[in-house]
Parts: sequence; C-alpha cells; structure tokens
Amino acid sequence: MTKQKTKKQIKQTKYIFVVGGVMSGVGKGIATSSIGKILQAKGFRVTALKIDPYINVDAGTMNPTEHGEVFVLKDGYETDQDMGNYERFLNIELTRENYMTTGAVYKTVIEKERNLEYGGRCVQVVPHIPLEVIGRIKRAAAMADADVVIVEIGGTVGEYENILFLEAIRMLKSEQPKDVITAIVSYVPTPSKVGEMKTKPTQHAVRTLNGTGIQPDIIIARADRPLDEKRKEKLAVFCNVQKEDVISAPDVESIYDVPVNFEKDHLSEILMRKLGLKTKKALGLGEWEKRVRRIKSADQSVKIGIVGKYFKTGDFVLSDAYISVIEALKHAACEVGRRTELHWIDSTDFEGDTRALRTLKKYDGIIIPGGFGSRGIEGKINAIRFCRENKIPYFGLCYGMQLAVIEYARNVVGLTGAHTTEVNQKAEHKVVDIMPEQKENLRKKNYGATMRLGQYEACIVRKTMAAKAYGFGSVLERHRHRYEVNPEYVDQLKSAGMIFSATSPDGILMEIAELPQSVHPFFLATQFHPEFQSSLLYPHPLFVAFLEACKKQK
Ligand code: GLN
Repeated sequence: MTKQKTKKQIKQTKYIFVVGGVMSGVGKGIATSSIGKILQAKGFRVTALKIDPYINVDAGTMNPTEHGEVFVLKDGYETDQDMGNYERFLNIELTRENYMTTGAVYKTVIEKERNLEYGGRCVQVVPHIPLEVIGRIKRAAAMADADVVIVEIGGTVGEYENILFLEAIRMLKSEQPKDVITAIVSYVPTPSKVGEMKTKPTQHAVRTLNGTGIQPDIIIARADRPLDEKRKEKLAVFCNVQKEDVISAPDVESIYDVPVNFEKDHLSEILMRKLGLKTKKALGLGEWEKRVRRIKSADQSVKIGIVGKYFKTGDFVLSDAYISVIEALKHAACEVGRRTELHWIDSTDFEGDTRALRTLKKYDGIIIPGGFGSRGIEGKINAIRFCRENKIPYFGLCYGMQLAVIEYARNVVGLTGAHTTEVNQKAEHKVVDIMPEQKENLRKKNYGATMRLGQYEACIVRKTMAAKAYGFGSVLERHRHRYEVNPEYVDQLKSAGMIFSATSPDGILMEIAELPQSVHPFFLATQFHPEFQSSLLYPHPLFVAFLEACKKQK
C-alpha cells in the first residue's frame, strides 16, 4: 500500500499537444490516436483528450453534415468523431472528462463565478479560461492515472477560435517545461502545376504558432507522398526543429497503418527522449501489425450498401456521418478475411418508383444506420421490406431497428397504420413511441443531451442469433435515441414471428429484433449502436456475424 503510494507520488504525467497547421481534415485525429498507440506499445498508460473550439456545449445538437458523426461515450456524453478514433486505436473507454468545447469551458467558468468560487475576484478571459482548460486536462489525466496525455486541439493555428487553448499550452509549458511538448500536424502540398513539394505553408503555420509563444517540438508532415530528405532539412531549418523531428506522414491505404509508419521515423523514441520517459515493459505492435497486414492482403470483398441520408454537403458526398459504422465494418471484415466495398445509397431513391429497389440485389448485405426525422423514411422502410422478402442480409442500427419493426408491423402483422410518433404523432398504431420522460423534454424544447444516452445493459435471450454472436448472457451497449419499441405491440410482433433477442433487464425495452435463421439468413437490428464499441483488435461480434452472413451470399 505504502509502496504503491510512493510510486504514484513520483509519477509525473507528461503532456503532448497536437495542433493543426495549414488546413484541417488531414488526419490530426488519426495522428493523435497513433501517437497514443505507439506510446502504449512502449508500455505507457495513455489517455487522450479532444478540444473543439466551437460554442456548442457538446456535439449532440449538431447536424451530422456539419460536423460528421456524433460519437457517444459510455457515460452518454455526445462528442466528436475523433473520440471514436482514440477509443478504437487505444482500446480505452473515455468519459466526459476527455472532451471539451469552448462552450463547455465558458459555461463552467461562468457557473463558478456565479457560485462565488473565484472569491470575489475579477474573472477574466485570460488567465481564467486557459486555467480551466488546464484543470480539465489534469483531471482527465488523474482519472486515467495516465503516464502520457495527448491533447488534440481542433482546427488550425491562426484561427481566432482556438487561441485560448494555445494559451493553455503555453501556460502549462511554462509551469512544467520538461513535461509538455507540442506536435504540429501540417499539410505539405505538391501542386500539380508546380510538380514539387512545397514547405512554405507549413513554415507560415509554424511562425503563426511561434506568435502565440509556442515552439513546436515535432512536425508531422502530412502529404500525398513521403517527404524527401531535402524537404525534411528545409522544414527543420526554417521551423527551428531538428531534422529527425520532422516526421513523414504520407497518405496510406489504411488509417491503421499510421502508427506503423510513425515508427519508421522512430517517433515513439523521439517523444520519449523529449519527455524524459524511460522505457517500460514494451508490449509492441505485434497483433496490430498482423491485423493491418490482414486488411491489406484480403483479396475478396463483400459489397455492403449503406442506406442513409446524411451524405451530401454542397457538391460533395460525405461519409463522415457514419464513420464508426464504416470502421466497425472494416474491423469485422478483417476478422472474416474480406475487404469491404461500401456503397452509399440515398434512401429517397426508393420512394415513389420502387423499381429502384431491385438494385439492392447487387449487394451482399444492407445496413440502415441511425438517423432522425422524416426525410427518406418510407424509402428506408421499402428497402427493409425488400431485404426481408429477398433474403438479403440486413443489419439495422437504432433507427434501422425501429424502422424494421414498423415494416414488420405493417407488412407481416397487418397493421397498415403502424409508424413511429417521431414521424407521425397521430399514427393509428404507434409501434415506436416516445418514452414518458422524453415527452416532457420535447415539450420544454429541451433538446440538448436529453435522449437515452450512453451505456445500458441488454439481456440476451438464449438460442438466438444474438446469443450465438455474443456468447454472453448480458452486454453493455451504447444508446442515443428518444423513441422505443412500444411494449403494447411486442406480443403481436412476436406472434407474427419477430424475435426480440435482447431486452433491458426489466424486460420493458426491446434492444435487439431479429428473424429466425430458418426464414432469413441474417435479419437483425439493434436499438443501441454497436458500432461505438468496435475496434481493430476487438471487432464487434454482431458486425462479425453480419459479415459472415454477407460472405455466404457470394
Ligand atoms: N430517431 C430515433 C430516435 O430518436 C433513432 C435515433 C438513432 O438512430 N440514433 O429514437
């Protein structure tokens, strides 16, 4: 006991900040996750934090086409998709302590001021906001008992929005100079007309960072190709770092390659040296590398159609809204030795002219992921019916489960007026309906963080597909929804052949719906979001079962 305590006291947590240069969207989240992975492989306890500079208190109220997927933590906090990357790479469970936005930080500071927690002093943007940020980072570090904390700051340097977070880095560094380093993930373009890799944008980004009082220790140079020696030298000379501190981060086939690539430039050793970290019992990247090789060597593919609606942003097609689903499919595909070939299908295609439904036959399996509202709903229901009647493997996630139940109620039970009250409050058969406490939230226009959120237990019914896949009697899965299968219709649905293979422990809430394998090769849908708990090293059993079924379609 005493011995343990002394050990704890001498442990000095180290901080690695990751900031963006030149432009966003070049993989800062993956870089952060990969830094964590390589340090974990060296035996360190790692945790990661994301800071988003927007005013929204959490990501829950944001439209997925604006900000990509909302990732739900086990404690129900609605966060940014990068949190999903951290969990998937590091196999750790993060909590609300690991995520903050400008809105959340200001909210706390204002609340503290109102509670007189600043003892009557003048509460100022500087230093009180950065101090609150530092306090939160340290709290997350302590909760995880971390050796190393990696903090990713959203956006890029030079944006007004993140200046207070950069100030937090500067303040923490001046307080603990030996424990804090900063890495800038910057883009190094090769314009086609120039035909040469240009370092100037990164040089400017580093100068901008210098202007906030921060000198980066590491430059992670994202580019479409590896950096040559000359470019490394240039960046080193003009950005004030050593040449070996410039890490080449070219585009890769799989994001799971990134940690392996970082190690080609010895990044973990560089980080350890800079932070004065002594080697621990290294675990290595063995199993990880084995799986990355397996992803690349799979030559046969399974063709999956994802029927949804959050695909378009201006002229671009965006799959970010479903990032956890995509990754969970990749993990499961690696497990079953296949590649995934994903196709994005807009559900409105199946409304009106239902001949388009026949195109679904091209796929080995169909997924309908989570969603909200009424647009494209009838198209989704038509697609589910087609999959059910034509024995195409179907996997529904959250809304994809509620709609599968509605489809079954309408077309098998014969309740033509079946619907969810989310779409039609006056539906004749409210087969999917709102929970009483949620009614109150909607009435008060209380939309933020008020759904059924986070981890809940689901009890699995024996001798079902779910039981076969999980092999456990009860599981913890993450939720994000307001509506539920209405218990009043459960018996009718069951008598018509639908199996509810998992329920809440009190048996009231339906967690998984499936059809017997004697009538359909794979028809299973979950009220929860299994995709939030899949990782490369631990693929989710239901995704694996789905892909096994898709594989057999070939
Ligand atoms: N819109 C549905 C609900 O709120 C489903 C939500 C989801 O798919 N995440 O219950």
